[in-house]
Amino acid sequence: MIEKLCIIGIGLIGGSLARALRDAGYAREVIGYGRGVGNLQQAMELGVIDRAEVSLPDAVRDADMIVLAVPVGNMPEILDTLGPVLSENSVVTDVGSVKGSVIAAARAALGSRFAHFVPGHPLAGTEQAGVAASQPGLFRRRRVILTPESDTGDHALEQVRAMWEAAGAEVATLTATDHDRILAVSSHLPHMLAYCLMDMVVRHDDHRAILENSAGGFSDTTRIAGSDPVMWRDICLANREALMVALRQYHVDLGVLVKAIEKGDDKWLCETFTRAKHARDKVNKNI
Ligand code: NAP
Repeated sequence: MIEKLCIIGIGLIGGSLARALRDAGYAREVIGYGRGVGNLQQAMELGVIDRAEVSLPDAVRDADMIVLAVPVGNMPEILDTLGPVLSENSVVTDVGSVKGSVIAAARAALGSRFAHFVPGHPLAGTEQAGVAASQPGLFRRRRVILTPESDTGDHALEQVRAMWEAAGAEVATLTATDHDRILAVSSHLPHMLAYCLMDMVVRHDDHRAILENSAGGFSDTTRIAGSDPVMWRDICLANREALMVALRQYHVDLGVLVKAIEKGDDKWLCETFTRAKHARDKVNKNI
């Protein structure tokens, strides 16, 4: 158990972590920091946090653990403010969906205190945002990836690992480069495809008829286009290089599919769909 846990950004992820850790009795006090009182008031009413702060230095003072749960694009400004006011024994971690850019910002802002920073990313979430959507069980049996650097402190790493295990998660480690390359395909690319498909339909002359005549296939494929646009703008830009590799590969593959349909290449279509179906069936068995 720790004394003070401070979560910066009480939204879906920050709120869910606060709830999970409160249920686990992990911290004596959970402090939530936000830009304004509205969201924090709601977090207090829902019993997600014990105390609300709109001053970052007040929020993090003497905290044992500080979790950054704001959009990736806002991590640098938060880290810059945090650097000069960080207490000697505070461990800092984040939940950002991209690791390379957050690590660079933390290194620049924290200087010699960088050893106390443990980059992290929970592979759990929904297309909803905000504290009202937070769930205490969101991380149960879900993977959390930590991407420690060679100069990340062992003590800090163990503290962050223990925090996620208390929230019910299973912790794995990767290098930041591998994380960003892999997540570009497993998470960032599907979000781009969903946004692109939804936007294509909404700009179509027959968009009303298309939506009225859509069913489970369209709904399943575009569910994640309901995700927060600011969060996804930030992820796109922060993981631009790895995402461009994935998007270009997809573009090439889509071109091959278009040609096969154009030529009526039934053999290619059946082989490709069969290979994809077998792979997808295996994924279903593991969920
Ligand atoms: P969210 O529900 O929108 O929550 C983000 C919170 O950050 C908001 O409640 C807001 O609180 C605060 N915030 C927003 N802009 C800020 C700014 N400029 N300065 C300070 N605070 C700000 O988003 P989320 O889904 O929890 O995502 C948070 C982080 O988790 C992101 O880095 C995302 O990449 C990562 N993540 C998301 C998912 C997912 O599926 N959603 C999964 C894994 C990781 P106030 O209004 O009170 O300031």
